[in-house]
Amino acid sequence: MGKPYLGLAIVLASAFACSAAPPTPSPSPFEPATAASVPTAGELKRDLTVFASDSFRGRETGTNDERRAAAFLVARLTALGLTGAGDSGFYQRVPLVSQALGPATRFTVSTPSRTMTLIPMIDLVPILDIGGDEPPPKANAEGALVFAGYGVGNDFWNVPIKGHVVVLVNGAPPRTAPNERAALESESAITARLERLIPMHPAGIIILLTGASTDVATRISRELSRSLELAGPSPDALPDGERPVPMILIGRPSAGSPLLPPGWTGDGTPRVLHGRRFTGHIELRRQGVSSYNVVAVVPGTDPALRRTYVAYGAHYDHLGILPPDHGDSVANGADDDGSGSVALLALARAFASARSAPRRSILFVWHVGEEKGLLGSAYFTEHPTVPIDSIVAQINADMIGRNNPESLYVVGPLAAPHGQSRVLGEVVDSVNRALAHPFVFNRDWDSLSSPEQIYYRSDHYNYARKGVPIVFFTSGLHADYHRVTDKPAKIDYDKLAHVDLLMLNLGTALANRDIRPVEQPSVVSAKRRTR
Ligand SMILES: [Zn+2]
Repeated sequence: MGKPYLGLAIVLASAFACSAAPPTPSPSPFEPATAASVPTAGELKRDLTVFASDSFRGRETGTNDERRAAAFLVARLTALGLTGAGDSGFYQRVPLVSQALGPATRFTVSTPSRTMTLIPMIDLVPILDIGGDEPPPKANAEGALVFAGYGVGNDFWNVPIKGHVVVLVNGAPPRTAPNERAALESESAITARLERLIPMHPAGIIILLTGASTDVATRISRELSRSLELAGPSPDALPDGERPVPMILIGRPSAGSPLLPPGWTGDGTPRVLHGRRFTGHIELRRQGVSSYNVVAVVPGTDPALRRTYVAYGAHYDHLGILPPDHGDSVANGADDDGSGSVALLALARAFASARSAPRRSILFVWHVGEEKGLLGSAYFTEHPTVPIDSIVAQINADMIGRNNPESLYVVGPLAAPHGQSRVLGEVVDSVNRALAHPFVFNRDWDSLSSPEQIYYRSDHYNYARKGVPIVFFTSGLHADYHRVTDKPAKIDYDKLAHVDLLMLNLGTALANRDIRPVEQPSVVSAKRRTR
């Protein structure tokens, strides 16, 4: 599962925010999987122990480790006898570019007598992406420096903002009560301050982090140094003058910094930093990188339906090598999303070894680049290797092997726009009810307004944007999320197998139904129109 964006992506409330009524049972029967084909805890454990081992070094997109993980999947799929459905066998090349700060990047503070240089990535870290589809912040900033204190209360009204480079502290004034202090120093406080400040048209924003938010700078600088995006028109092609958001830089307050009032010791009184001007220029260097989605198909058996697909998705990439934590630096990504990756392998094995395949074809996509911003699924849905409207549903699995064995989050039936996943949600419920031990579904995240914004954070989102009915299964977040401690030994393999059984039965049901899981305009015309 991807991280939430730090920033300003403003989520528009969907017109579909109503019908929270419990779904009604689906009238369509389905054939449960035959016992011989059911995914087993043993095979899932065997595969995940390898796939999330240290030797894969965290499967980071754009590295050889990613390509070895893809090769592992392809070797298994070949042995199982599946058909490749990428653009070259099982592989679909995903062209990416990496970005790095160029040597012309420069931040300076000048006074009438001298010019001081602030070192990029050490003193100041630029925010290059504010999330969503927003254009990047400006790459140039120039203006007189003002200090806006802690950016609380009337602070922004007590100094000139427009056209100035504004420095503020993400923290709390001295003698603030502890709970209030925690809120003012938090990561979300950064976003809140930016949202107030940007509409006042500063020429640049410099946020100095304190307290709980201090590690954001480290994290962003690390992410920046390995950021990837889909190849295409450069986002910084948009001229600076047309970008709505000014340059945003983050750093730490330090004694004697030219960004703070002389002798600053925590006094938050806003003031103009007379005689000081800030100049910033960010140079981005871009370099091509090849990554790969892994795509496989089990052909359907019905002549009329086999050109349509039930798609399963997971992401096989993870975070790679992290700063050492008790001597360990490999982000194994056993749950995220090794669990979904091996679950799809077990499904591939189950469908390939079943006595007869379902009527529709089954498509498997192991996406790359999810952790870098859902890149592989964005590419696949823009360049699908089967017609996108031939995909009748997409079932996404990301982090499905942890937490309460009985409980599973279901995301999509309510959150996807225009009710496009509502009928699919009904099928999910009926398939779950037919299990010997149905899951207790948690629907807290099936909403565009849940604080965690889970709907936007995994690959199903890109399919939903193309109008495909989607359902996203996850067993939820945990203390090992995005840490080196997300290990295979912490997976509940019985639960993983149980989620996989639900997914198997769901895919089988969808693939054998005459009709797509969408609203039927009328009974009479339904069959013809929805094939
Ligand atoms: Zn993740």
